[in-house]
Amino acid sequence: MSVTLVPSLPTRPAATPAPLDVLGVPGEINLDYAASAPCARAAADAVAELLPWYASVHRGAGALSRRCTLAYERARQSVGAFFGARADDHVVFTRNTTDALNLLARALPPGTTVVTNAGEHHANLLPWPRGSVRLPVPADPAGAVRDLDAALTELRRDSNPALPVLVAVTGASNVTGELWPVAELARVARRHRARIVVDAAQLAPHVPVDLLALDVDYVAASGHKLYAPFGAGVLIGRADWLDAAPPYLSGGGATSHVGTATHEVTWTTGPARHEGGTPNLVGAVALAAVCTALADADRAALAAREQDLLARLRAGIAALPHVVELRTFGPDAPRVGIVSFVVAGRDSAEVAGRLAREHRIGVRDGLFCAHPLARRLLTEAATRSGRRDLPATALRASIGLGSTAAQVDRLLSALAALD
Ligand code: PLP
Repeated sequence: MSVTLVPSLPTRPAATPAPLDVLGVPGEINLDYAASAPCARAAADAVAELLPWYASVHRGAGALSRRCTLAYERARQSVGAFFGARADDHVVFTRNTTDALNLLARALPPGTTVVTNAGEHHANLLPWPRGSVRLPVPADPAGAVRDLDAALTELRRDSNPALPVLVAVTGASNVTGELWPVAELARVARRHRARIVVDAAQLAPHVPVDLLALDVDYVAASGHKLYAPFGAGVLIGRADWLDAAPPYLSGGGATSHVGTATHEVTWTTGPARHEGGTPNLVGAVALAAVCTALADADRAALAAREQDLLARLRAGIAALPHVVELRTFGPDAPRVGIVSFVVAGRDSAEVAGRLAREHRIGVRDGLFCAHPLARRLLTEAATRSGRRDLPATALRASIGLGSTAAQVDRLLSALAALD
């Protein structure tokens, strides 16, 4: 096998914004961004530029290795800056949001109570320790704030006030796209001396998420939902719990000293403590490239374009008498480009299969790894619509950077044809 040598790493002139288009296959209509978004050209380009240089990170003295170590640490900085990390926050690369939240769950100080909500994705329900408080799904965003306030008041009254409390909340629902009032929830948490982590898996691809501006303690996100599908995610936030916790992955890179006696080990502090083993350089660089491209972009214009498409999709669905939308809050609650719905009298898996086979449209069907919420919304949809023939699972269409009005219209006409 021969090795193609590349003399120098090309870098884009600083003044040229990175491209924000996404890759795809002509004719295939991807309306499943909420599961995994397509790859941004910025991510693919960054990876292509990096690959000839690929070598070990943090482990070699060679030029390639040093270059890769620099690229990895620069990626950490870019991702941290994109999420508004404070100077003393840690930016830990993980595999995805699930991994990031599991890492945080393992770093909780003893006796921490976690307060979450039945409307969460499983990734933000299942990692938390026994004794966590699961609030009911509220009727509206103001209800979410009230419920949290009441729960924290009770918790502080009934338990040792010195014990830590962590509020774990989603930024945007993966079932309905509805936005949760993160800044208000953070204010309530702060008032009760609780910390707050935001599951930004669905929020970050659509709107800026800034730790400092939101005054939240931690943010978790996935690269593959943020147009960087190279296996990296991130947990960003307060250093103290992370530095005090046992390493998430014990092994090379997480230690500062290992002695000859069994268990004689000193773990390092900083992000490396939880990134044992060889890190995912390609994933980190891809994620950083998208973060940089998005930071350079006119995000208000991108969001406005997405909201236009979303309004078109929701209006089209509302006009189909046999299709019923799922929602937690009122019909006008702000949301990102995600819509779940059911086709009355049709099995959702069968509809998804027909959309794929007959129209080359990819959507998601099922309960979206948010079983408690999805089941509840299906029941509510039946009550609201008065239809007794709704299926037991739902369909979800989700849009983003590469979506077009023509794609939305194709879905709507395919759904209309099912009647
Ligand atoms: N949180 C939310 C709101 C999600 O939508 C998802 C995935 O769909 C996750 C967490 C888990 O993300 P990942 O599968 O990338 O770990």
